[in-house]
Amino acid sequence: MLVSLFLLRSVVLKHVVDFEGWRAAARSLALDHIPPEQTIWSVEEASDLFAETVTAAPQAGAFSVPRGLVDLAETVIQVKDPERFALLYALIWRAHGGEKHILDDVADPLVQRVMRLAQSVRRDTHKMRAFLRFREVTELDATRYVAWFEPDHYIVEANAPFFIRRFATMTWSILTPYRSAHWDGETLRLAPGARAAEVPDDDALEAYWRAYFSSIFNPARLKIAAMVSEMPKKYWRNLPEASAIPDLIRHARERTETMVEAACLSPVRPPRPRVHVPGTRGTPPADTPLQALAAAAAACQRCDLFRHATQTVFGEGPATARLMLVGEQPGDQEDLAGRPFVGPAGQMLNRALIEAGVARETVYVTNAVKHFKFEPRGKRRMHATPNSTEIEICRFWLDQERDLVKPAVIILLGASAARAVLGRAVTIARERGRAIPMGDAKAMVTTHPSYLLRLPDESSQQREFAAMVDDLRTAHAWL
Ligand code: SF4
Repeated sequence: MLVSLFLLRSVVLKHVVDFEGWRAAARSLALDHIPPEQTIWSVEEASDLFAETVTAAPQAGAFSVPRGLVDLAETVIQVKDPERFALLYALIWRAHGGEKHILDDVADPLVQRVMRLAQSVRRDTHKMRAFLRFREVTELDATRYVAWFEPDHYIVEANAPFFIRRFATMTWSILTPYRSAHWDGETLRLAPGARAAEVPDDDALEAYWRAYFSSIFNPARLKIAAMVSEMPKKYWRNLPEASAIPDLIRHARERTETMVEAACLSPVRPPRPRVHVPGTRGTPPADTPLQALAAAAAACQRCDLFRHATQTVFGEGPATARLMLVGEQPGDQEDLAGRPFVGPAGQMLNRALIEAGVARETVYVTNAVKHFKFEPRGKRRMHATPNSTEIEICRFWLDQERDLVKPAVIILLGASAARAVLGRAVTIARERGRAIPMGDAKAMVTTHPSYLLRLPDESSQQREFAAMVDDLRTAHAWL
């Protein structure tokens, strides 16, 4: 679905691996001569997973890109990084613009980055196929094989056919945080994921499965009579790979990392220093003080926001950055990706930084609150503003980021960031754009890019975008 957003084209895909939607949109954008920097990509995920994907209307005109590029895109679309759609479109744009053999240019930074992403998906696929651990669960006198797996990427959909071929006559379910796949011997059903925080250890998986099963399945769709009478296990016994399953169950855990490392020729990392932070679950490893802090924050339970979010989203950027940007909290896509400002607001911010002449890779980007606060609404997770207590508690991490990075200028994106850093309520319209002394540093308040996305008309979006660019440019000039 293509939506015009003043100077930008916003593409909303139906789900995280909506390859056909991305492909149709990329073709349409290229034929409309819309360059990559004028596109914003996001995923709706609110619609029925099994609804037919709505794609952009076919455009007239000559359009062809090498088959290898299409195959590569089909792999990279599975990467758990909201930037993947834009990166792939940038490749398509260049190929369509005449660089037909762009993939042969292995020194090209974009090609290198996309190739690395593809390799990461292949590695994840290898792990899933080799080390998935099924457990036998009895349901209504029949047997189901259930596996819990935490992929690094969105690989369940692409790998479900592999497991169907391999365990065709078994009844099985694969549960992951973002998606579950259920095979009843005839039909594959994809459903929302199970929450990692709700999945118990292996010994309790059976009990968990029963509760999960009853919550997601319509018994009428399970062919109960057939399951009871056919006893899937007798088919399972006849499978040539059956002997491998007990082995997987017994040894998967201890073999996983060593075999994956060997298969992928990844270097063995040396022991790393550890840091302990009160109020966290453990003493995670780290290479640098900033990484140690990020690792400690990953285990934070200082407030309740960790309970429902997917993960801590820590700041990122050079530890020596002179400019720090502070936002409010991660959004839906940041929560899934584990990185700040990668969703639609992040893409808006990137565009404003480019307009202001600021390279994002030189900036340290973080948030006042490190966990995504939301309210469920159907299948959507709607942003909820963190309250002053949550901001104050999470300031523990932001203060330490500031201490380690020591930025000369801090740009506060929105009221929550301003409250976290200045320690008081701020009216953006009254204080934006001016220098606020912070010891050796200066701070500036400006709007949050998500505010621009919520404005109802193009003229106000353009006006606010220009004002944000002005603020960024001014703050950058203070360096
Ligand atoms: S929001 Fe901040 S303080 Fe609360 S649990 Fe997450 S990291 Fe910890």
